[in-house]
Amino acid sequence: MAEQGWGSVPYVAEQFRRFYASRAERVKAPPEIKQREFGFLSFGGRSMFRHIAFDDVNQLRSHLAENTPAHAYYSAAYYSAPEAEMEYKGWLGADLVFDIDADHIDTPCKADHDRWRCRACGEEGTGRAPERCPSCGKAAFEEETWLCDRCLEAAKYEAQKLLDILIQDFGFSPGELEVNFSGNRGYHVHVRSPHVRGLGQLARREIVDYIMGIGIKPEYQGLSSRMRGGPPSLLEDGWRGRSVKALYDYINDATPDAIKALKLGRATTANLLEHRDKILRLLMERHPSSIVRYVDPKALERLMEAAVKEQASAIDTVVTTDVHRLIRLPNTLHGKTGWLAQTVAIDDLEDYDPLASAIAFTDGTERVYVRRAPRFRIGDETYGPFEEERVELPLAAALFLLCKKAARVER
Ligand SMILES: [Zn+2]
Ligand SMILES: [Zn+2]
Repeated sequence: MAEQGWGSVPYVAEQFRRFYASRAERVKAPPEIKQREFGFLSFGGRSMFRHIAFDDVNQLRSHLAENTPAHAYYSAAYYSAPEAEMEYKGWLGADLVFDIDADHIDTPCKADHDRWRCRACGEEGTGRAPERCPSCGKAAFEEETWLCDRCLEAAKYEAQKLLDILIQDFGFSPGELEVNFSGNRGYHVHVRSPHVRGLGQLARREIVDYIMGIGIKPEYQGLSSRMRGGPPSLLEDGWRGRSVKALYDYINDATPDAIKALKLGRATTANLLEHRDKILRLLMERHPSSIVRYVDPKALERLMEAAVKEQASAIDTVVTTDVHRLIRLPNTLHGKTGWLAQTVAIDDLEDYDPLASAIAFTDGTERVYVRRAPRFRIGDETYGPFEEERVELPLAAALFLLCKKAARVER
């Protein structure tokens, strides 16, 4: 059967058109809209329409209503001439932007809902695609990636850790931060502050390293037997306190198997298993550096690396360091899900449920033929799994499958 009909693109485009006809009104202008570049991806089209500028939010809303893009973006940067070609734009600065995508987080559920297929020999498997096909050795795959509550929770947790670091360590006020659900697998965090605007690529790279906990070594955090002066404590600011807390949490939570898997050497492994409570007490109460009696320096480095990874936030390096980046515009539709990108108040993030809040299409049903989909949830209902079947679904669920190209409309 010809597969070009998967996704029923004209149908989806028509639904998006109906949506923007009434709901484009709810799209808000990003701050200083005149200085922003906008970009749009159309349905079926592969090229980005960019270098677009608007004088005010009404122009932006009309554009959405008239053109019905599949994806809408605006620049983190401010330009004196945002509609000009790149080299003539006149870069004035950029918000500091972070992207967290469940795709980059190793959630165990990927083995349940993701699949790959070798383009060369047709070998198939579940989970992430391997580096090379186990059957023919080639490295070109079709990948089918889905998301679930666990993926979205994992992304949210990374966003919460990021916010914590931005507020605690960098001292940004919540008013300078905006958190947006991306409409698909993750979150975007925008920092709007005069202190970040002028930062170039290298400075942003330093911030990324800090947030990802790169290069956090025990000896630089005061955790060494040679350490003189004040030892770090859980209460210290920055990574000095955070790394001790990281160690504490890691040692407290790790199973004996996880400890053994770190290959810390016989003596340290035995100490961690036998004297765990004592080590935790030292970290908590006394000079944390006295744990070097139980954990040798090499082992401590490895332990610290694993522990820091848990406290750091898994942000996408490229997005933050690119000072010309286009970022998804909140209150617009994501063409790969049919869900809304939306701003989430920081206080609401804990309880935020994208699979209920970001649903754009709430009325009606549609009949679709589904080739394959794992079980998924929208609102309080779960659907699927489906395989080669006809089914009538609420419009949001049908559009999700269509946007994922896993179904086509059946009339
Ligand atoms: Zn193969
Ligand atoms: Zn998942």
